[in-house]
Amino acid sequence: MKKNKINRITTGTREWSDYSVNCITGCSNNCRYCYAKKIAIRFKRKTNSNWKKMEIRFNDLNKTYNKRKGRFMFPTSHDITDNKKVLSACTKVLENILLSGNEVLITTKPRINVIKFICEKFNGFQGTDSISFYYYF
Ligand code: SF4
Repeated sequence: MKKNKINRITTGTREWSDYSVNCITGCSNNCRYCYAKKIAIRFKRKTNSNWKKMEIRFNDLNKTYNKRKGRFMFPTSHDITDNKKVLSACTKVLENILLSGNEVLITTKPRINVIKFICEKFNGFQGTDSISFYYYF
């Protein structure tokens, strides 16, 4: 007898990427529609009042990534803001992902100075499809 085949529907970040990477808990943008905030509050990693405080997870800055098949998405539960410490942490993680030849889709509410900084910093990776941006508002 033939088994029924179940077609799974891909949703969320998996529609766009194979791996999600983050290095900060909280997001100063505090968007009204933020799913990451809801999840963080649900699992008691943050509260409604301290979600806006971006806490860098320093252990995540030293993670290394092997070359993987498929695309990374970074970040998926915070933004890359123009706060110096946040930008520095995010740049380090991006570098760690890219150095082994991986492809990254950067998701951000774009700030022109942040986009310029990333493009200049990772100039050597441009033209290789290593970095692409997805902007949302
Ligand atoms: S920028 Fe993204 S992670 Fe940050 S509050 Fe808005 S939706 Fe949430």
